[in-house]
Amino acid sequence: MSVDLRNVRLTYPDGDRALTALDEVSLRVDPGRFQAVAGPSGSGKSSLLAVAATLQRPDSGSVLVGGVDASGLSAAERTRLRLDEVGIVFQQPNLVSSLTAIEQLVAMRHMRGGSPKRYRAEASDLLATVGLDGKQHRRPHQLSGGERQRVNIARALVGGPSVLLVDEPTAALDHDRGARIVELLGEITRNHQVATVMVTHDTEYLESVDGVASMRDGRLSTASVAGVPR
Ligand code: ADP
Ligand code: MG
Repeated sequence: MSVDLRNVRLTYPDGDRALTALDEVSLRVDPGRFQAVAGPSGSGKSSLLAVAATLQRPDSGSVLVGGVDASGLSAAERTRLRLDEVGIVFQQPNLVSSLTAIEQLVAMRHMRGGSPKRYRAEASDLLATVGLDGKQHRRPHQLSGGERQRVNIARALVGGPSVLLVDEPTAALDHDRGARIVELLGEITRNHQVATVMVTHDTEYLESVDGVASMRDGRLSTASVAGVPR
């Protein structure tokens, strides 16, 4: 399924004025495509993901997930759509410190409804997908920063979402680890045929993505850099 933002405007209250975080943003990403959005801090990247994830309702414009317009759905239907179709890798690593890698994934499955026992096999497969085969029983403090990020990514894939939204996945990593995380996201995009949006202020890892859009002051421009050679 694709994710499709059309003419999205999002403002936040700012004293007696409004701060425009997203200014007529349009972006469509199809299954199997790895789209980057690059822009400086404060340009609106996390806001874009929040809207794409249907966590934040835009002031105007629309968000379609798999062709379904989220604004036409009830809150409960939106939540269902998000749980079924959208995987989110938040910028803040929000792993539970007392849970092992595999338990982080099983707990997520539980949130989505279902019995934890049945989902250990899925969790184990996903951890293998992200290269954490032998580390399933480690807790966050027994993993490196890159490995924790891999757990985050695996957790976002629980339940087989068709849209993957990733916020600054390289921010806390050194160059090599960052490059490998972006590579991994590209593999996942192709192998799982997800529509991936990765936002980043880092422009050094963008060789392997299918397209780069630039974000500045809430405005998105795709023309300048779309179709970066692979
Ligand atoms: P980025 O992820 O590119 O750093 P954000 O989407 O977080 O950008 O923020 C875009 C703009 O919106 C910034 O000016 C930020 O200060 C503002 N902003 C973000 N979240 C909120 C919020 N919850 N309330 C008010 N302003 C916000
Ligand atoms: Mg951000």
